[in-house]
Amino acid sequence: MTPVLALRSVTKRYPGGVTALDDVSLQVAAGELLAIVGPSGSGKSTLLHLVGTLDLPSSGTVEIDGQDVSLLPDRRLSALRGSRLGFVFQQFHLSDGLTATENVATGLLYAGVRRKDRRPLAVEALHRVGLGHRTDHRPSELSGGERQRVAIARAVVNNPALVLADEPTGALDTANGLAVLELLRELNRQGTTIALITHDRDIAASLPRRVELRDGRIIADSGDQATATVQFSRVER
Ligand code: ADP
Repeated sequence: MTPVLALRSVTKRYPGGVTALDDVSLQVAAGELLAIVGPSGSGKSTLLHLVGTLDLPSSGTVEIDGQDVSLLPDRRLSALRGSRLGFVFQQFHLSDGLTATENVATGLLYAGVRRKDRRPLAVEALHRVGLGHRTDHRPSELSGGERQRVAIARAVVNNPALVLADEPTGALDTANGLAVLELLRELNRQGTTIALITHDRDIAASLPRRVELRDGRIIADSGDQATATVQFSRVER
């Protein structure tokens, strides 16, 4: 089966000579829930930008659903991003002037879903994240944990091939953070593929697969059968 995500020997150099990613190869299969973990400066944001098709590698290829993103013209790339990827951010990035339903419906704007179908799909997604009773609330009327649930509903409303969650619990207290993690696990059990980017080793340790970045390289991948166990146990000590 085609992996939902394949990075092949990806290197990213920034002007000024920083090599933020150095020969990174990674495959993610449909149905996985993985953590991409590493300290500040290890290359997580750079990886997120490349996988999110917001930037291109200096060399190597990034494939989403089997499509090499560097071969797609801008319009097709936006369509791919809108229809195959879902994004969750640390700071939620919701629109204050919109209700929860309207915020979630924006996740369907670039996916070719007809206007009249957007609202029921958004309400359904809010039910999936346990916010069926908050559909008409605005972000200012919701707790941090609830806001992140709205953002997660927006990310999954379109049934994306891959959800990219960038420090999704970083702005939440412990209890709400754990609840958001449990929600992501539940969505994964229902079939959503999720890559969670974090610097938090405890969060990473709680997920089925961990890919560890250091200085722009993958130094351990518990999903890489050949090397995983040995490398990862070494790093954790
Ligand atoms: P992380 O998200 O793990 O903190 P980043 O991907 O942001 O790591 O950064 C990896 C390296 O690339 C760091 O050394 C950082 O300073 C550098 N870097 C990131 N973005 C840029 C940029 N736009 N221009 C130059 N250097 C950058």
